[in-house]
Amino acid sequence: MKNFLSLLCVGLLILAKASFANDNQNSWQQMKGRDFIIYYRANVPDDFVQTTMDTAEDELRRVTENFGITNPPSWADKDRQIKVYIYSDRDDYVKNGAQATWSHGAAFAKARTIKTYPEATGFFDTIMPHELGHIIFRDYIGFTVAVPLWFEEGVAIYQEKAKRLGANQIVKQAIENGQFIPLSQLTGVRLYKDSDKQVVDSFYSESASAVYYLITELGEQEFFMLCDALKNNMPFEEALHKVYLRFKTIGDLDQSWQQYLQG
Ligand SMILES: [Zn+2]
Repeated sequence: MKNFLSLLCVGLLILAKASFANDNQNSWQQMKGRDFIIYYRANVPDDFVQTTMDTAEDELRRVTENFGITNPPSWADKDRQIKVYIYSDRDDYVKNGAQATWSHGAAFAKARTIKTYPEATGFFDTIMPHELGHIIFRDYIGFTVAVPLWFEEGVAIYQEKAKRLGANQIVKQAIENGQFIPLSQLTGVRLYKDSDKQVVDSFYSESASAVYYLITELGEQEFFMLCDALKNNMPFEEALHKVYLRFKTIGDLDQSWQQYLQG
């Protein structure tokens, strides 16, 4: 489980512009596909780049379906293609990609950019779908509406093949140990490069579990409706109440989710 929990992205930077500090002196190789352009360091093996391209195209379709988007806009236009940067290794990714040491991949939704590196465990099953989840979700709902970070991350985690199974157990444990952070407080949590690992792990487990509950227990159609309400710029709590009448606040959702976890 630890491995899964360490597969994270820098949530705070999701909406930020991609920054490529210190990258000017380094050259990138390029592979152009229909919906993606992959930029990679010279030492990244060709077969890894090719598999990344093939997986990315497949995952783009699967993740789009997961959001119930029936008429997706084309990604093939030059200004909409998704850019994937594959750094040489972790050091290169952290230093030149300006990323946290605890992160293995990062998505910049507005710039339609993903950054990662080839040694990242679970790259194809976890990191790629997760980061695409961020990009597709924001491309769909737009960039004006504010969404709690735990929801944004939970939605991305839901795209991972294994969906961090085990997160429910970790959250249950946290409730029993008194280490549980209520959703209303989680909404205010911010993650930084030097955030405590315990806080980061709790944040992602709770995000995964809460969104998993929303989608699998309260219904996929309702989740699609929630995304549609956000797309129409409805504030998060208002959208929540519109779709799930009994939830007037995030606190109501929190209670219902905790009751479900405690059986
Ligand atoms: Zn993420």
